[in-house]
Amino acid sequence: MKIRELLLVVGTAFFLSSCATVPPSTVIIPSVTTSSAATGVKTATPVVPQVSPAVLHPDVTHVVGPGETLGMIGQMYDVPAVAIASANHLKVSAALSPGRSLVIPKAAAFRSVITLFPSRKWKYIIIHHSATEEGDSLAFDQYHLRRGFSGGVGYDFVIDNGTLSKVDGEIETAPRWLKQQDGRHCKASHMNKKAIGICLVGNFNEGKVTEAQMASLVYLVGTLRTYYRIPAKKIMGHGQVPGADTDCPGKKFPWQEFKNRLGAFK
Ligand SMILES: [Zn+2]
Repeated sequence: MKIRELLLVVGTAFFLSSCATVPPSTVIIPSVTTSSAATGVKTATPVVPQVSPAVLHPDVTHVVGPGETLGMIGQMYDVPAVAIASANHLKVSAALSPGRSLVIPKAAAFRSVITLFPSRKWKYIIIHHSATEEGDSLAFDQYHLRRGFSGGVGYDFVIDNGTLSKVDGEIETAPRWLKQQDGRHCKASHMNKKAIGICLVGNFNEGKVTEAQMASLVYLVGTLRTYYRIPAKKIMGHGQVPGADTDCPGKKFPWQEFKNRLGAFK
């Protein structure tokens, strides 16, 4: 991921005005892409490349995550909300049901969107794993609702691993972050009231964090840490919180790599 290409748009999160007294900031990052392997086959380079608009901007399908609006989805694909509404026979103000599929016309490459709210509430960042091979914010939302968590998914952010309908490395923002509510991810040391909860999809007692997930985690934590002025010692795994009895985010979570890359993040 080319972190340098990040685009910082201040005060444009018009779709999130209910909770913040000061306009939030929206950080848009390019999608995590993997370079294709070299084939060793030489091809002639045309003088004038001819690529049809449909190839550059294909229609794609997006499964709505918890809390997402047409405005948010439009930013993810660089498509006006009104165009998505029109393509799906919706009013632009329509509330979206999580789990429904939308056609995104002429979509650009997917980008994660992170909204930052001015706040003194957030003092810690806690990293979790889902302890499942598959998942996304929608799946955890449904699971946490069945467990009786008010507000659904208990984390603030979910970093996907390419399972279900999600892109590997996609950062999903949970509704409780958009509303700036307390978390439901770490009772110990009262962290739900003061810690931003980030969950990576995967079981890191057995499997590995994908490269795309690690790049997104470093980017997300680096962005949050900078904005909320959270020192390195207050960025920890769930199991490192005093009073927590868990091995989350897994015995094989690559702490050294994470710390090295976070330290280099600017
Ligand atoms: Zn955890």
